[in-house]
Amino acid sequence: MNKLALSDKLTPLQLEHARRCISSAQSVAIITHQNPDGDAMGSSLAMRHFLSALGKQVTNIVPTSFPDFLAWLPGVEAVVQYEQNPEAAAQALRDADLVICTDIAEPGRVAALSDILAERFNAYESSQTARDNGETARNDGENADNASLLIIDHHLSSVCSNHPEQIAYPDSASASELVFRLVYQIVQDNRAVIEGISSQCRECFEPILDNTRDHHGTISLRHYNIDVPFDAILTPDFATCIYTGMMTDTGNFSYNSCEPEMYNIVAMLLTTGINKDAIYNRVFNAYTADRLRMIGYCLYHKMKVFPEYHTALITLNRREMYRFNAKSGDMEGIVNMPLQIKDVYYSVFMREDKIPPHQKPEAGEAKVKAKISFRSQGDRPVNILAREVFRGGGHMNASGGEFFGDVDEAAKKFIEVMPKYMRKE
Ligand code: 5GP
Ligand code: MN
Repeated sequence: MNKLALSDKLTPLQLEHARRCISSAQSVAIITHQNPDGDAMGSSLAMRHFLSALGKQVTNIVPTSFPDFLAWLPGVEAVVQYEQNPEAAAQALRDADLVICTDIAEPGRVAALSDILAERFNAYESSQTARDNGETARNDGENADNASLLIIDHHLSSVCSNHPEQIAYPDSASASELVFRLVYQIVQDNRAVIEGISSQCRECFEPILDNTRDHHGTISLRHYNIDVPFDAILTPDFATCIYTGMMTDTGNFSYNSCEPEMYNIVAMLLTTGINKDAIYNRVFNAYTADRLRMIGYCLYHKMKVFPEYHTALITLNRREMYRFNAKSGDMEGIVNMPLQIKDVYYSVFMREDKIPPHQKPEAGEAKVKAKISFRSQGDRPVNILAREVFRGGGHMNASGGEFFGDVDEAAKKFIEVMPKYMRKE
């Protein structure tokens, strides 16, 4: 693989935390958010390829089903889907030496697995507090108390703002890019140490030299127990997963995509021989005729435009989705479409959703809920509205939330608060 310039975005503290977590774990559970999208699947499966190459026993868990247009991703056949296999998913999450969360930093975003993930987060918090108070970690980092947690995410989160060792960059366009950077920096760092050993004073490196081995491009740092076969990590499978996540979270590099180094990463991925045009086709040109008809219906019959507030709103109830045979993933991308209208800067899409069993107690009288997507352009945040009114959150220009009640009630609520959250100019 040809190397291009890539700055060290991840801090030494983050790198060290990731290394410690990975090296001391034998079994790893990788989990991502409910209704997983391309970045969720791409980042978590890329991590799988990396850890499998290190000889770890890896279980990928998704809380709910993933859409058909991602069902071809390398490694996807091994993913344990909670709804299909609740015991296996719960057990892996509970028992793994290490839990890695990609594209999420909140236990609440994993549907029915939220309680178990919250336990892992709490164990981690306690172990960190103990460490900060100078207490020796039980079993000296052996993770016997299931406290090992690694977050690789690009959402704003309180957990991560209190834990600078966790990898959380809200300015990053995708979690997949952060996975790439983590792997790249680990590999680069290992190489730097090896090169240091051969070019500098041997004695300085004597303490770790015994633990170090370098043969035919395979570089290992036994000190961290991480074997990093250089080109064996940056494989077409790994690159495909990373590229898919980067591509989907930037709308095929049409938003959040002005960061120059993003294209250095893309260039490095392409040197593995992956075909980016084929990936585009598999993801974006793989829908059913019904979905296209549903989009036509949404735009023609269901889209309301509020020119004064530069806002468009689309709602879909269960009957309408049934009519178009809508399946998981078919709703993806509809929310972005009204932004094609000149002078529309905010777009809201609401669809009726079932209230899952684990939410029943909170839902009170409501029989259904509305799942809501928000999008915006430029310096117009939608995550504040999502958080304050619709129990959600997300990025400045792409957020989501929910409302207990049907989509008409949710729309009424939105129209009520629109003047407060949508700018007129
Ligand atoms: P989407 O509209 O594609 O479902 O979600 C866009 C983004 O909004 C996601 O990447 C995620 O960051 C955020 N998001 C969506 N739904 C929720 C939710 O229910 N709660 C929170 N906290 N964030 C959400
Ligand atoms: Mn993402």
